[in-house]
Amino acid sequence: MTTRRKLVAGNWKMNGLKASLSEVRAMVDGAKALSGVDLSICPPATLISAVASALEGSAIGLGGQDCHAERSGAFTGDISPEMLADTGAGFVIVGHSERRAGHGETDAVVAAKASAAYRAGLTPIICVGESLEQRDRGETLAVIAGQLAGSIPDAAATTPTVIAYEPIWAIGTGRTPTTAQVAEVHAAMVATLQQRFGAAAEGIRLLYGGSVKPENARELMHVPGVDGALVGGASLKAGDFLKIAAACA
Ligand code: PEP
Repeated sequence: MTTRRKLVAGNWKMNGLKASLSEVRAMVDGAKALSGVDLSICPPATLISAVASALEGSAIGLGGQDCHAERSGAFTGDISPEMLADTGAGFVIVGHSERRAGHGETDAVVAAKASAAYRAGLTPIICVGESLEQRDRGETLAVIAGQLAGSIPDAAATTPTVIAYEPIWAIGTGRTPTTAQVAEVHAAMVATLQQRFGAAAEGIRLLYGGSVKPENARELMHVPGVDGALVGGASLKAGDFLKIAAACA
């Protein structure tokens, strides 16, 4: 299995006020001591421009948490990938399970958003993951294969793309899969992507997400096939986020 440079992306979800910019500044300072790992923060839309300013000159990347598939228009409350790119963002999370479940986003919608991200020059972080019921029924690998088939555009073969495996039952619960369970899903994802994209699959980074904390990061980040983490709660505090990044470095 190829070793790729790891990426740790922080998904702040609907958290963060202007006061949180002090955490971003602490991340910028702390990141100077890290090498061999890429970092990115995905703050809420209200903070994205301010975070972009705080990150100026640093190696930490910036991302949105979602985007609309259209460039512009009558879509009240939505944000286009072009708007995100305009703030300086380089990434956008699409297909997070909280969007799939809470906003009825299908694989086709997620694929359209990922294609829109490519159009705007953003790297999509495309999320997949099974529910606990699906895992208990032994459907995990089939669910993930279906989500990959439906949510990953063909252009992933030629355009920077990140995929995050996030078991829904591990998100925000403090519960994590065993390293064997993570390894099994990541190996299956690698095989599926190789089958579809051939050698180009090598370029797609595969993150693990779901209750990654400083305490479990080293173990999870060294599972074969894991190229980094998508981190929710633990990305809100610079100290925790930097410790997770250090576990990858
Ligand atoms: C997430 O929402 O992408 C996530 C991984 O959350 P947490 O780390 O809080 O489980």
